[in-house]
Amino acid sequence: MEKPYRMCMVCRERKPKNELVRIVKNQDGIKVDKTGKVDGRGAYICKEGNCCDKLVKTKALNKTFRENFSIDVYNEIMEKLKI
Ligand SMILES: [Zn+2]
Repeated sequence: MEKPYRMCMVCRERKPKNELVRIVKNQDGIKVDKTGKVDGRGAYICKEGNCCDKLVKTKALNKTFRENFSIDVYNEIMEKLKI
């Protein structure tokens, strides 16, 4: 069986899903989804490397979800990604 591949929203590289973390947006807001099972629109970011640090600089969430997120939202997401 082939592994599912997803694209990192920061570096745009395609990687196996287990090397990425899912970020999901639904009516409750936007958050890091470590289970990969939360309902909503999902996007992926590399677990390793500096994509997490580049998230704010590139404003990748804004582009991916077509919404302007505040710096507080970015900081919260980045904190969760680093756990
Ligand atoms: Zn990446």
